[in-house]
Amino acid sequence: MSEDCIFCSIVDGEIPARVVHEGEEAIAFLDANPLAPGHTLVIPKTHNERLADMDEDTANAVFQTLYDLVDVVERGVDADGANVGFNDGEAAGQEVPHVHGHIIPRFEGDGGYPLHAVAGESPDLSEDELDEIASDIESRAND
Ligand code: 5GP
Ligand code: ZN
Repeated sequence: MSEDCIFCSIVDGEIPARVVHEGEEAIAFLDANPLAPGHTLVIPKTHNERLADMDEDTANAVFQTLYDLVDVVERGVDADGANVGFNDGEAAGQEVPHVHGHIIPRFEGDGGYPLHAVAGESPDLSEDELDEIASDIESRAND
């Protein structure tokens, strides 16, 4: 629990929320400023700012809950699809510093965009640069 974290306060019941699912380690509730009907947030019950701050059990609970709820949320609001994602870090648009996965239901012709729209202009990367990036990531992934 972090003293002035709004999502910790929701976990503790100090701030009301429309909770749609509660497990041992993760909880899901409706976003207060929904981008679409059914816009749902899934958070760990413990205070973790970034995805990489979560221990494995906590991360598993969050991702399992997202997996369990995507279809349920879509059916709940009769959506045609959903965007599922995290703003991880301020540079990525994270405003509340407590991990939260967004489930944003999508509807045919809703005028929205795919996740490809979030990162601004696409960089122009050469084959060599792509090889170097892949190898840097791969060596760390297999550390
Ligand atoms: P972020 O930009 O950090 O990924 O998204 C934070 C999300 O939390 C926003 O979509 C915002 O509407 C939502 N939010 C912020 N404060 C509250 C709150 O007190 N209750 C609920 N239910 N959602 C909140
Ligand atoms: Zn918190």
